[in-house]
Amino acid sequence: MINIRDLYYEELEELLLKMGEKKFRAKQIYAWLYKGIESFDEMTDISKELINKLKDNFILNQLTLINFQKSKDGTIKYLFQLNDGHAIESVLMKYKYGYTACISNQIGCKMGCNFCASAKIGFVRNMTPGEIVGQILKVQKESGEVVSNIVFMGIGEPLDNYDNVIKAIRLINDPKGLNIGARHISLSTCGIVPKIKMLADENIQCNLCISLHSSHDNVRTDMMPINKVYNIEEVLEACKQYIAKTNRRITFEYALVDGVNDSREDAIHLSRLLKGMLCHVNLIPVNKIKGGKYEKSSTEKILAFRDTLNDRGIVATVRRELGSDISAACGQLVRDQKQSE
Ligand code: SAH
Repeated sequence: MINIRDLYYEELEELLLKMGEKKFRAKQIYAWLYKGIESFDEMTDISKELINKLKDNFILNQLTLINFQKSKDGTIKYLFQLNDGHAIESVLMKYKYGYTACISNQIGCKMGCNFCASAKIGFVRNMTPGEIVGQILKVQKESGEVVSNIVFMGIGEPLDNYDNVIKAIRLINDPKGLNIGARHISLSTCGIVPKIKMLADENIQCNLCISLHSSHDNVRTDMMPINKVYNIEEVLEACKQYIAKTNRRITFEYALVDGVNDSREDAIHLSRLLKGMLCHVNLIPVNKIKGGKYEKSSTEKILAFRDTLNDRGIVATVRRELGSDISAACGQLVRDQKQSE
């Protein structure tokens, strides 16, 4: 059965017409969907008859709250169960400019980055557009806050679930949907080159973030097996094409690991690679994961790395660490309670 939240507005209109309903009903129904209703019966301005028809033709995918944890910095991590019983995590963070939701797009991940907890939990399946967007609706409902920024930085590799993620972004964007501007949406990828090139042609103004983590192929391959398929040179070439086509600045994410990728030489080499690119480097003190071998660089080393980049004309900032006390920080998300204990 069709999951009604997986549909574009125009698709819903078309299906309603086929059901013998008037097109304008789509407007009412869509408004309810994006208010975050959890049952068709909540649509109080729609006749019982049409509600029953909707129930016969569609399912309303439900995210069920299983657990949540609140960090001392205010970050909230939610564990949601999907219709088929699998669970994923979503995170709500408060910044000066509003609330940001960090959302998952796959149940598990295939990429195998060895510093990321989401890689250790195995891959189950892609999430649908409705499930991806549903996280934002549910987080808003549970917290009572309005989300203004979205980051595709939860569980999963968004460019490995390309079609569903693109549709989710368009649904988030749609004034009839969540109505959040593309510039408030960030998509982070481990660097799937052909998909970066495809994204450049989508005409979506979202922010592209690339998980780089090293400027040396041997070190990056050690951290991220995807580097064997698409190496640093190929990723940067795709980024240059992306910038040329979209005129949008790219963010390079760089998790600093003690003794692995945090030397002065590393910073100088990185600055040479990125010279002249419309970009920004976001430094992330690596977060410890269960059984992980990597340790965070010291604050002095992190600041020195940042300064070396800045001195060489590469804009670099250090990402605030939110939610690490509840395993809600970058790379710490898993898909069930037992795994996060
Ligand atoms: N699959 C996507 C998005 C998921 S992770 C990607 O690879 O980009 C979001 C960011 O957190 C990525 O930059 C990722 O590399 C980073 N990350 C993963 N594990 C981390 C850890 N243990 N500490 C710090 N950052 C981490």
